[in-house]
Amino acid sequence: MPRSNGTHPFVGEKRFGEWLENNVDWALSRDRFWGTPLNIWICEDCGHKRSIGSREELAKIGRKANGEAVSEAMDLHRPYIDEVELPCEKCGKTMRRTPEVIDCWFDSGAMPFAQWHYPFENADRFDSELFPADFISEGIDQTRGWFYSMLTISTLLKGESSYKSCLVNDLILDKNGQKMSKSKGNSVDPIQLMQDYGADAIRWYLLEVSPPWVPTRFDVDGVREILSKFIGTSKTSILFMPPMPISMVLMPRGMGRIGNAMRRSIAGSSHACTRSPQM
Ligand SMILES: [Zn+2]
Repeated sequence: MPRSNGTHPFVGEKRFGEWLENNVDWALSRDRFWGTPLNIWICEDCGHKRSIGSREELAKIGRKANGEAVSEAMDLHRPYIDEVELPCEKCGKTMRRTPEVIDCWFDSGAMPFAQWHYPFENADRFDSELFPADFISEGIDQTRGWFYSMLTISTLLKGESSYKSCLVNDLILDKNGQKMSKSKGNSVDPIQLMQDYGADAIRWYLLEVSPPWVPTRFDVDGVREILSKFIGTSKTSILFMPPMPISMVLMPRGMGRIGNAMRRSIAGSSHACTRSPQM
């Protein structure tokens, strides 16, 4: 099993591990029109089933119901693929595709292979260079979705996980710990928040309020507090400093891009403020 990031092992060992221990068969088919067509043809007479391995194979043995040949370049989606019939290997009667499509999580889970068109292309460097991935990163709600579908498909095909490590972020909830939803009216509009308080205050709040791997209870009062106590105090302090180059505006060490963004923002605001009285 891939390991989850060391800061939150419970996601891999508990949440994902318990899901796998109590796992049941994956019902792969869906009664939908849009999606990847289920690659199973069934004989109308003897019930024999067959899957096709490539476009080349489909064009070679398939025929359209009206007798036309099948092109290798055909669109493999519905409704076009439903016109293709095969001769039964067992009894010689007609085989038709079963009408279902595949659960879309199968498409997501096939990503590590599909993105390289493997094994039709890149087979020479797939195992040595392209597979498995060093890490994947997504929200915790993907435990039974993307994390699982990728693990299942790669285990079937390769006997191992398609990712070495999994970085999981938890969800942003409302201030009472409830999941945000439009119907409940407890969601927030990030664009409006940035217009009201600025992107820096929101960035700083999200970094400071809780680690990304636990649920964040979002409270706009916390953003206001960051704006007045931290951003406001910093701006005021800088305004009273003697003029200095931007590079000398002090920020905590090791803050990387956020620190640079804060530095630029504070310095820019400071310049704008100090310029305005001269205009
Ligand atoms: Zn048959």
